[in-house]
Amino acid sequence: NNPDIASPARTQAILNRFHLSAKKSLGQNFLTDLNVLSKIVDAAHLTKDDNVIEIGPGIGGLTEYIARSSKQVLAFEIDQSLLPVLAETLSPYDNVEVINQDILQANLPAIIDEKFNNERPIKVVANLPYYITTPIILDLLKGNAEFDNITVMMQKEVAQRLEAKPGTKDYGSLSVIIQYLNDTKIAFEVSRKAFIPAPKVDSAIVTLEKRENIENEVYDEAAFAGFVRGCFNHRRKTLWNNLQGVFGKDEETKANVQSVLEEFNIAPSIRPEKLTVDQYVDLTNRFHEKNM
Ligand code: SAM
Repeated sequence: NNPDIASPARTQAILNRFHLSAKKSLGQNFLTDLNVLSKIVDAAHLTKDDNVIEIGPGIGGLTEYIARSSKQVLAFEIDQSLLPVLAETLSPYDNVEVINQDILQANLPAIIDEKFNNERPIKVVANLPYYITTPIILDLLKGNAEFDNITVMMQKEVAQRLEAKPGTKDYGSLSVIIQYLNDTKIAFEVSRKAFIPAPKVDSAIVTLEKRENIENEVYDEAAFAGFVRGCFNHRRKTLWNNLQGVFGKDEETKANVQSVLEEFNIAPSIRPEKLTVDQYVDLTNRFHEKNM
């Protein structure tokens, strides 16, 4: 009976035996705190009915915990040299399949269709490679794969931006875009000491729960994201200034912008970080109606 893959001694033994050193360029930091692994599985509310996508199984430490608590796991690992390791460490689990693919290149809806037969629930659980945290999250939310929830570890600074509320220094376009689709919460924080090798920053687990029945809907999600990014382009400038950057400065445009802001009782001098998600939705839709 082996100790858990993620226990510090076993992780070190696996790395030694396969002559592996963690690849910094791929964001490889292996989690070796079993208590943290249990808490991740708890935060994801995993059950034996769940079909789980994992991103970056590494040597399989988190995968093992997911496999024990779910129906099946599909784990995407970009690093080919980890495949023989995973084949061995995960051999006791017949509900795990490793796919050697870059998650950003994967056609998730098609793969889910094929591997999960469109069975639900489908959840995402991962200790993300930090160099591509934001692209991965935006990609997961953009696809029409529609996950029931997403539970992911990332660096604490990014987690704080995802969760931030209007008027705080962390609140930005990413907060607005993500919170429009999801209830976003930091479940708990994790010290850098929980990893081999230790990263330079502390981490946090974020849970994203799809918002049901969004009342105030945007006409188009991609256009919404583009508009919100434009409004935050110059954070320290006023909304009015940023909107000129988005739409241009001719007199007719300015008059239109002014009337829309008046309609929603938004002062032109306000800073972009003061607006709520709903206010961004309202503005996106009204400017669209005005063919802007
Ligand atoms: N899950 C393991 C753990 O918790 O100990 C390892 C997590 S480590 C932070 C991130 C993992 O993601 C590494 O195994 C790395 O090789 C993998 N990875 C990096 N970029 C990837 C990509 N584009 N697609 C899939 N996996 C990737």
